[in-house]
Amino acid sequence: MNNDIENLYRQVIMDHYKNPRNKGLKGYPHVHIKNPSCGDDITIEAKIENGIIKEINHQGSGCSICCSSASVLSEVLKGKSVDEAKGLIQKYYRMIKGEKIDDEEDLEEALVYEGVSKFPARIKCATVSWKALEKILNGEPDEE
Ligand code: ZN
Repeated sequence: MNNDIENLYRQVIMDHYKNPRNKGLKGYPHVHIKNPSCGDDITIEAKIENGIIKEINHQGSGCSICCSSASVLSEVLKGKSVDEAKGLIQKYYRMIKGEKIDDEEDLEEALVYEGVSKFPARIKCATVSWKALEKILNGEPDEE
């Protein structure tokens, strides 16, 4: 990655961190998840109707990577079908691990986390909210 792209990616991440989209829970099925290695503590909820993700909201605190990725996730996966979203989540995990992926543009704004693969300690930060949504999509939300 050249420096211009890295700077652009950093700007997108900071924008989502400072101005998070879809922040605030409304009472849909949710998953609360923590990343003790960094102190990230986040809840993701989703409204799913007829196999389509109508809404994704998030609430919590943590580092810029964690909080911004919850915001990016809420935008990228909203409106997708559950199956499509599950595929994109797996693709995102592969990208974060530094694996080569096809059609990476499908990840839209989530591509800004590509560079995280160079910082293994931050991988959990970038995936914690995605793992929470994955549990909801798998029909395993928290009990309360
Ligand atoms: Zn973190």
